[in-house]
Amino acid sequence: MDKTNLKNKKQDGYLKQQIKSGDFASFMLFVGQKGTGKYKAVEDFAGAILCDNGSGEPCLICANCKLVASGNHPDFLKLGGEGTIKIAEIRELQKSLYLKPYQASHKVAIIEDAHLMTEESANAMLKVLEEPPENSIIILTSPDKKLLPETIVSRSQIVNFGTAGVLQKTQDSEEVYADVMNILDEKPVYEKMAMVQKYSKEKPLSVEFLNVLEGILREAILGKSNLGSYSEKKIIGVLELVEKSREYLKSNLSCKFVLENLILNVG
Ligand SMILES: [Zn+2]
Repeated sequence: MDKTNLKNKKQDGYLKQQIKSGDFASFMLFVGQKGTGKYKAVEDFAGAILCDNGSGEPCLICANCKLVASGNHPDFLKLGGEGTIKIAEIRELQKSLYLKPYQASHKVAIIEDAHLMTEESANAMLKVLEEPPENSIIILTSPDKKLLPETIVSRSQIVNFGTAGVLQKTQDSEEVYADVMNILDEKPVYEKMAMVQKYSKEKPLSVEFLNVLEGILREAILGKSNLGSYSEKKIIGVLELVEKSREYLKSNLSCKFVLENLILNVG
């Protein structure tokens, strides 16, 4: 087991300790599914870094906390969370990270669903990690570290959220990974339909399923994993289906319909 694979309570203490000491890892990876409290922990941690108070949590009354709450803090940068993360977005982030903080002592960047960076984006991010900008903290989030290039994972301080939270009752990220691999396997469609039902119960589960699926397909395109009989054309076709499924979910079609439709089209 990874030594940084801390339980949630310990993580909380660990993150607060970092803020109190002012000694931050400049590059962190928060791993865990949606619903495990990962994203809230990231936001609180970022807010606490920016806060003037330095107590380990956002005081909510200082100028920095007020700017964070208004969504307009110039040193708080966020991207991702809406599918593929394109090179232009990483370049823009890169530019602002190398500038001095305007308002707080540090700049904090969150890249949500970092496994959805394109290959170009991941390479650009790696360059940033190799020459870390001063006074900047970059936090990546992902449902599973296996979905990210090893070169990125090995440079980051990992904070694991995969072991607790609401979603844990039904599955953990290893299980989602295994289920997605089964969906891509040559199994009868009715078996795949049955398997996908548990991800139809709540929207965050469906989104998680799609995110892990997209991560695996991207790895296969980059030649990092092998999807057996899948040609590149077929992989791209499924990636398009994932994108379409996300749009359907956004327009509030039922999760059950969206996932079943995906399975029927994947075949
Ligand atoms: Zn504050």
